[in-house]
Amino acid sequence: MTVQWFPGHMAKARRQIQEKLQLVDIVYELLDARIPYSSSNPMMNEIIKHKPKLIILNKADIADPNVTQQWLNYFKQKGQPVITIDALHQNAIKHITEASKEILKEKFEKEKAKGLRPRPIRAMILGIPNVGKSTLTNNLAKRKAAQTGDRPGVTKAQQWIKVEKELELLDTPGVLWPKFEEKRVGYNLAVTGAIKDTILHLDDIILYALDYLIAHYPDRLVERYNLSGQFEDKVAVLDEIGQKRGFLQSGGYVDYDKVYEILLREIRSVKLGRLSFELPSDIPTSEEK
Ligand code: GDP
Repeated sequence: MTVQWFPGHMAKARRQIQEKLQLVDIVYELLDARIPYSSSNPMMNEIIKHKPKLIILNKADIADPNVTQQWLNYFKQKGQPVITIDALHQNAIKHITEASKEILKEKFEKEKAKGLRPRPIRAMILGIPNVGKSTLTNNLAKRKAAQTGDRPGVTKAQQWIKVEKELELLDTPGVLWPKFEEKRVGYNLAVTGAIKDTILHLDDIILYALDYLIAHYPDRLVERYNLSGQFEDKVAVLDEIGQKRGFLQSGGYVDYDKVYEILLREIRSVKLGRLSFELPSDIPTSEEK
């Protein structure tokens, strides 16, 4: 599902999330491990202010493990707690609970010292569309789907999912808008399937993806499509893929639409191996805080 974002929607999403923020101890910022910067919301830190945050790099099962390690180092160096998960296949409960307890250790120790009763950590998931928020919610709700019900003092009925004795999750994740400004970010979102292919031109998306693959994963291309390895002319590469796969129209011309479709599908379905489309060094220096 792709939501079209307009300023009114953005203001409303922000307001709703800020209301819910008051109910939680910690925010889980869900990012796509293949494109952690491109899949982040541009105003995340401004919206959540000083609320403790755990970055969760999801879809780690289809991201390039070497690049994911670089991202882990990057966030850790900045003092930002981060973990990787694969919400679709792995049980993420333990990983997330442990990381949350560690982040909130001091806060909970202080509460205890003041004589407050022990209570579970309360958390909410935030992220742009398609990063896996619903998948993660289901993953965490799996074992104990029982909900703890409404809490007094909360105007709108908030449902809490009891994940563990020590952890409760708001059942509705906060949906934030993606970045719109940078072209490269738009292509990354399109290549990974976060936004519809129709928002950008398919041929531009493919040429962008092909450029990236040639620069970072040339051997995977050669192997998958049995290519010669001549990468100077991208159209010639598309021709070669079309020829090798037999995607030809009458007259022997390559059917580019077919080539585009296959390339995009195979990139997304790990047929070319686990791919990442962004490195920490791709973050614009103006965004470094
Ligand atoms: P939401 O819009 O953030 O709630 O995203 P969804 O939970 O609907 O997930 C979007 C797509 O990503 C779905 O097709 C999921 O099956 C897929 N997905 C979610 N998490 C993972 C993951 O960890 N690994 C893989 N390979 N796919 C995932």
